Amino acid sequence: MSAALETVIGLEVHVELSTKSKMFCGCLNEFGADPNTHVCPVCLGMPGTLPVINKRAVEFLCKAGFALECTVAPFSKFDRKNYFYPDMPKNYQISQYDMPLTTGGRVVLPSGKAIRLNRIHLEEDTGKNVHAGGHMTTSEATLIDYNRAGVPLMEIVSEPEIGSPDEAEQYLMVLRDVMLYIGVSDVKMHEGSLRCDANVSIRPLGTKELGTKTEIKNMNSFKSVVAALEHEISRQHACVASGERIVQETRGWDEVRGLTYSMRSKEQAHDYRYFPDPDLPPLSLDEATLASWRSELPELPAQRRERFITQYGIPQYDANVLTQSRFDADYFEAVASASGDPKQASNWLMGDVRKSLEAHGLTLSTSKMTPAALGELISMVKGGAITGRAAKEVCDVLVAAGGDPKAIVEQRGLAQVSDESAIVAIVDKVIAAQAESVAAYKGGKAKALDFIVGQVMRESRGRANVDVVKRLLMERLG
Ligand SMILES: [Zn+2]
Repeated sequence: MSAALETVIGLEVHVELSTKSKMFCGCLNEFGADPNTHVCPVCLGMPGTLPVINKRAVEFLCKAGFALECTVAPFSKFDRKNYFYPDMPKNYQISQYDMPLTTGGRVVLPSGKAIRLNRIHLEEDTGKNVHAGGHMTTSEATLIDYNRAGVPLMEIVSEPEIGSPDEAEQYLMVLRDVMLYIGVSDVKMHEGSLRCDANVSIRPLGTKELGTKTEIKNMNSFKSVVAALEHEISRQHACVASGERIVQETRGWDEVRGLTYSMRSKEQAHDYRYFPDPDLPPLSLDEATLASWRSELPELPAQRRERFITQYGIPQYDANVLTQSRFDADYFEAVASASGDPKQASNWLMGDVRKSLEAHGLTLSTSKMTPAALGELISMVKGGAITGRAAKEVCDVLVAAGGDPKAIVEQRGLAQVSDESAIVAIVDKVIAAQAESVAAYKGGKAKALDFIVGQVMRESRGRANVDVVKRLLMERLG
């Protein structure tokens, strides 16, 4: 019988930094522009040009380092990584080899498990090859867009401590949330501003030595990371079971066929002939600058989640959802403060607001509903100005078109009716119309009353004071 095997995953995550300009020139760093419109002699690698370090990119990387508890090096340098590929006009990439900007650090998963980081370094992105159909010539053509060449990129390298595809996904989600919070990247996997390569190996459970690893590339969504890792792990298990040797290689992920395939045997680091870039001075950061960057960090998602639970008394699940983006978390706090009722603020945002947003294809940041308006709506329900049911209608209007809840209630005649004489008429009408339910209730079926109450509410367009409705019904039905 063979021993049980455990999975060992290490991730290399590339995050494009959302600076205004590129890493070493003044070209705009913008996704989606017409091909080759954001290029200049520097990022096109023309002879005789000189790169200049983008200070904002250094700041962003250091902030990411602080947020992930890394050690930020006051002194580091840039190196040339030499290789030849059409999407890289200089035939080398400016990166950091033996003196990265940060070392150590960790990513704490929701389970509490900490994945240690090896390093984060700063480099420049490559251009993009676009494999086009034959519209240029009769044969297929590959076009190159250099807009992305030279965009600042940070590479976050984990230690091989991730134990499953599920943990890998959690790791990526935590990284994404942190980057969004500190505002250094928009981390959109589908636009390529967050990219991930994975090293995968398996070994007998409880052993220390790492097995032969493969590197997986081409995963472009959280879902495909999980699927690719699951496939690769079962492939390696099958290799071991059949006595086959696992080969150290780079494998691609084929989304359509749902499998990994061999791309090339792994280059060794020395193949890149790294050497210090003679055009760039070493990077020296003084303590005051580092301290000021550190002081600008906002409260991070994990801390905020804990605070929401203790300060507002909302459930862990709600706190997780509400803190996923900084915008949503700020929004919740503004509604909590406007309404004076954090629990209701959370309930509305998790429930009816979310439903309306989905129905209208919006998010909190694209909807016109202000936190003040939602806060007022919650106060109106609590104060008895409208029923919970009518409030759902107002909420939907607010989400879709914005506005003032009081004005919407007035326009639509949704104010709560507590006046007995108005409600009596409806109650009597419903009792007459629902003879069957009335008989069922009188025959001992308590639930029939809920149905009758519901009919009265519907008849009143959700405006009747439900307590008055219940009392009147009880009086009449005994
Ligand atoms: Zn440029």
